Amino acid sequence: MTNDKKVKVKFIEQILNIMLEDIKEYIQFINISSEDLVLFEWKPLRSFKSYILDMNIIKENKVSDIFFHINKGNLKIVHIRKHDLIYTIGANNIQYQILEALLEEIDRQFNEMYDLDVLLSFSNTNPSMFKHFKIQIEQIMENFHSSNLVKKVDVLCRVCKATLPMYVKRSIMESETSFPVPLVYIHKGHAIVTYIDKDFVVRGVELVHINS
Ligand SMILES: [Zn+2]
Repeated sequence: MTNDKKVKVKFIEQILNIMLEDIKEYIQFINISSEDLVLFEWKPLRSFKSYILDMNIIKENKVSDIFFHINKGNLKIVHIRKHDLIYTIGANNIQYQILEALLEEIDRQFNEMYDLDVLLSFSNTNPSMFKHFKIQIEQIMENFHSSNLVKKVDVLCRVCKATLPMYVKRSIMESETSFPVPLVYIHKGHAIVTYIDKDFVVRGVELVHINS
């Protein structure tokens, strides 16, 4: 690698590390909904944007336990149905794996904090019951960098002719049964498939065709 490229990679890495430490700055909304009620919503201070239309579309998707991704200009939306709830996050410039890791942690802490089976069985479930979760959400975002929920791996892209930092959520290894795990990284209009082994070592990278 030339010195110029080394400087460029270092620069990208620095940006990504700052991003992890300051993840809150990039998050536009977090929403936890049941089928007919918004239980909890977090937005940055002074954000008056509404995501009702996005949430209506997301709710039409009835598949459980699979992460779905939506690209809306600069906004990346990730959502999943879990435990009869719909968890959604929207952010700018954050890799999908990081957003998935965040949603997994939010789901874990939300279920730890509330006895949801009981609370949601009330006929008059009131979202104000969940308002204190705001403190948890703020902590999850503040501690994200140190919480070690994602692992950064370096992948060599032969199109970019550069080593790119790519984040992989650690939980990926718990849910997989065969290794290495393929992970597609779409960036700058092209895509590579990377093969990551149990120890988060990249075992191979291939350029792949894309269709959508
Ligand atoms: Zn590339």
